[in-house]
Amino acid sequence: MDKVGETTLILDLSALEHNFRYLRSKIAPTTKFMAVVKAFAYGSDMVAIAKKLESLGVDYFAVAYVGEGSLLRDAGIKTPILVLHPLAANFDEMIDRCLEPNIYSHKILEQFIAADKAKNQENYPVHIKFNTGLNRLGFKKTDIDLLVSQLKANKALKVVSTFSHLAASEDPNEKTFSTNQINSFLALSDELSQKLNSSPMRHMLNTSGIINYPEAQFEMVRSGIGLYGYGNEAAVDAKLKPIATLKTIISQIHEIPANESVGYNRAFTSNAPRKTATLPIGHADGINRQYGKGKASVLIHGKKAPLIGNVCMDMIMVDVTDIDCAEGDEVIVFGPESSAEQFAASAQTISYEILTAISQRVKRLVLDR
Ligand SMILES: *Cc1c(COP(=O)(O)O)cnc(C)c1O
Repeated sequence: MDKVGETTLILDLSALEHNFRYLRSKIAPTTKFMAVVKAFAYGSDMVAIAKKLESLGVDYFAVAYVGEGSLLRDAGIKTPILVLHPLAANFDEMIDRCLEPNIYSHKILEQFIAADKAKNQENYPVHIKFNTGLNRLGFKKTDIDLLVSQLKANKALKVVSTFSHLAASEDPNEKTFSTNQINSFLALSDELSQKLNSSPMRHMLNTSGIINYPEAQFEMVRSGIGLYGYGNEAAVDAKLKPIATLKTIISQIHEIPANESVGYNRAFTSNAPRKTATLPIGHADGINRQYGKGKASVLIHGKKAPLIGNVCMDMIMVDVTDIDCAEGDEVIVFGPESSAEQFAASAQTISYEILTAISQRVKRLVLDR
């Protein structure tokens, strides 16, 4: 166990390697693997994660925004990077840093062609996004002819892939909807390929898609949450290893007599004498107020200590009445022994949200062993 003296997110790169190898084993050796490292690699440490994955031979990275891609380039990452949600304001930076845009509308295409021409680019790699039912970003069937004429009108760019995104890949009740999305993506990408007379790579699957729709892996898959050790279902979680452990320590212990309140707004009142521990982690670190008032628990010496009262900006108070503990003792908020998925579920949210919420104030400790 790695002892910490302050709130720390410990990142285990050997767990990352395990998850990468597990997910790779679910796809054909020839299928390419795009690692999704947006949002600081799901709240962990984007540069450390990307360097490790690059050393393991990942084929592509995906980030959400241009600034994230630039951070990877600053760190020396050479692997191609897809920007999932480019905005015209960042196109110069995008081209300067060799970041590849998701082209999701006629307007963004026009704007990108203009930026490309201004920089005398030819055959700049771009990725065409189809909307097959998520209704978030992308072209639909009726857009294809105009899209083709825009693409054919100049040599500034080259379509290297087409892709789409499943709306409910983790949900067995939505199998029909997901299968329809896959079929509609195939038809759209075929039509575009024919009309462009080229055969760009195709990719559709996120982590749960890799598990549930292996027949749709095509030339590449895109995985985020699975790399970080969560699989959206217990059977997959059992095969993966959470890479992050969020630890803190006990700053102070209080003996609270009956009928006293604890914390802001007096949200907790003791009905009997209680022992509480104050921890140096709060909503500014990503533990939102929704976890307070008894919803979530942390682990102290292997025992559950529920959060009591309201979460403060820099602190939480937990009930340790039945736990033999002392100031300075270690506290586990989540990690392999107490999953972020469970922590999130206590407040009706998902692993993705609690992981990406861990703020930049929290110290990161990267272990590669
Ligand atoms: C975030 C994202 C992913 C990764 O999804 P996971 O469920 O984390 O594997 C894949 N594709 C797109 C378009 C995304 O936005």
